[in-house]
Parts: sequence; structure tokens; C-alpha cells
Amino acid sequence: MRKLLLILDFLLCLSLSTSHTSFLPGDSKNARQHRKELNLKRPSEDSTAFESDIILASEKANKLAKEILSGNRKRRQTVQATKIWPNGIIVYKYDDNWPNSKLGNLSKRSMEKAMKMWQDKTCVIFIRQTPTTPRIGSYGSGVNIVFGHMCQTIAGRLEYGFGDLEVAGNCADNPGKLAHLLGHVLGIFHQHNRPDRDKYITVMFEALKQDAWKFFIKANENHTEQLNKPYDIGSIMHLGGHVMFNKYNITIQPKDKRLMAVMGQRTHLSFLDIKKVNDLYTCNRNCPRGPKCKNEGYIGPNCSCTCPLDLTGRKCQKVVQSFSECGGVLKRSSGTFSSPGYSQKYQNSTRCTWLIQGTAGSSISLNFTSFEIGDDANCYNDFLEVKTYGLTLEGPRC
Ligand SMILES: [Zn+2]
Repeated sequence: MRKLLLILDFLLCLSLSTSHTSFLPGDSKNARQHRKELNLKRPSEDSTAFESDIILASEKANKLAKEILSGNRKRRQTVQATKIWPNGIIVYKYDDNWPNSKLGNLSKRSMEKAMKMWQDKTCVIFIRQTPTTPRIGSYGSGVNIVFGHMCQTIAGRLEYGFGDLEVAGNCADNPGKLAHLLGHVLGIFHQHNRPDRDKYITVMFEALKQDAWKFFIKANENHTEQLNKPYDIGSIMHLGGHVMFNKYNITIQPKDKRLMAVMGQRTHLSFLDIKKVNDLYTCNRNCPRGPKCKNEGYIGPNCSCTCPLDLTGRKCQKVVQSFSECGGVLKRSSGTFSSPGYSQKYQNSTRCTWLIQGTAGSSISLNFTSFEIGDDANCYNDFLEVKTYGLTLEGPRC
């Protein structure tokens, strides 16, 4: 029997879900030549990928790593502006040796989905290089998608030439994992290596394989340039809690253990993932004025409000409603609600969100009189989430 009841006096936001360089066309010879000039290793030859899945041009890699380790580099959460793709246009191609197999074709489709995830929410555009591709965007820079043995990629744009993004069996058919790699391509580093990460997570070095320690080097504490956005444990650019373990199962532990289920997700771009790219590429530069977005929404690429997950409306003032009796904005000083059709089972793929608004300075509390939810030990599919960290961040689940 799957049923759920939620009765409360006040709450903030509650969500219930059951689901949820100038390369001309055909210029591969030039690409190979540039690769040689740049001494850029093929990914599968590079056993020391930076931060586990980021490939650096090898002549720069050691220098950068040393600078970060010594604290002499002002490392930011995102790459320097010179690494940004001009006009947000990323030209890509599939490597000449791309396998014409079932998995090869499936991986191409997954990659297109991953690109769409970013394109739909930001102003970046991925353009596949074909014999008829006009010379647009960042002339001469691009992404060469290869099929290999590891899931790793360049971060940001190479000054010249096509850098590799390598897909392998464990990410080839997963659009979310590929979207993570594309996040690096767009210029975003890992969330869990932010200089302030120790306030939010504990990296269990004793549980990690020793050769993985280098993937968890955090930036110097004095470097706060990246702290203009909250630490986003639900980012698609955050590793999960069970990676690269040697002894114990858990290698990254959120300080708030209730956030374990949202850490390392590869199902969607978080609100802040999207905002980061929109900011990085100034996607709203053509919007001198727009609506005054509420509830932490902001002016997005199409000059309308981009809202936190589950909020909608011209000013982000409403919640997304999948059913008429499911979700809404509550402004009364007290009230009750339940899952749709309670005490019957809730239907699959139901997502209900309530936004509770109190007056400034008031506190909001929830009282549960009955609670039952589909059996999901990890709270991935069936869950109750209370956004106690604000509207833009994931909250505790289940
Ligand atoms: Zn990564």
C-alpha cells in the first residue's frame, strides 16, 4: 500500500515525487598536428587526469597543479575568461574512429540529450562540425568526442585546437554523466573541491584509495572568488558519497547526513548549475530590463525569469502543479494538506510542491500527523523533501 499523508501548520517549500582553432570541415589532419604541437595527450594515455576526469594540456597540467597546491594561483570555481567559449558556441565532432556499434550510436544519442540539457536552460549552443558547418564561434577551438576507456574531458576551451572529451562504457549511455563532462567543457570545476567545502562535506581520506587523494585537492582557503554562490551539494558537478573507496563504503559524507541522497545526482542540472553557466556566459546581456523575479529567480537567456525548481510564473511566484489538488502557495497562518486523494495510494510520477510563505521574521514549522511513503531506501525515487536551505538548494529528503 503506497500512501502518504502530509499535514502541517506551516512550511517553507515541500516537494513530493515518485520519479523524477580554425578547423575547416574535415580538418582532422590539422587537429592531429595541433594536438602534437600542444603536446596534448590522448585521454586514455593520461593516467593523471586532473580532479579525476579533467584532462589538461600536459605541459600546463603540472604547473597548474603545483600552483593550486602551493596556493599561488587564484583558482576559481570556474575557469578563466580566456577559457570561455566565445558567444557560447561550442563546435564539436565525433572522432574519426568513433565506433559504428550499437553502443556507439546509443552514446551519440545520449550525448545529444546531454547537450540539450545545457542548451535548453542557458544560451550555450553545441554545433556539430560537418563538411558544411560554417566557420562560426571560436574559430579553431572545439571538442573532439572520442570513444575510449575513461570518462574524462578538457575543461573549458583550448586556445587552439580540438580538445578531447572521452566517453567510455560507464558513462556512454547516461545523459546525466555526459552532462557532467559537458559542464567541465563549459568551464565548471567540481563543486566538492571548492575551498569552503569542509563546511559542508567531509572527505573521508582514510576510506579513499590513496591514488585518488589527488582528486580531492581543495583550493586555497584564501581564494574566495567563487563563494558568491552557495555551496551546491545537489550540483551535477558534485561527486557522490561512494566514489573511489578503498576500505569503507562512504568516501564523502555531507555534514547534514540527510543530504546524502541528493549528493552526486546525475539526473538533472541544479538551479545553480544553470545559473553558473548563465552568469559565466552573460546569457541575459540582451535584456536591459525584464520582470522583477521573485523567490530567487533571475533574468535568464530569453529575458524572462528563470525560476528555482518547481516554481514557475512570470515572476516565479507560482508553483508547478501536476494536479489541481496537488501543490500551491500557502499564505495562511496555519493550514493542512495531504497527498492527492489521501487516503488512497498516490499515483506514480506525482510531484507536489507547496510553497509556504510567512511574514518577515516569522518561523515556519511542520507537524506530521501521519506519514507513509513508497519503500525507497535511498530516497531517490519516492521522497519528501523539505527545502530548509532555501529555494535554490536541495533540502533533506525522506
Ligand atoms: Zn568531473
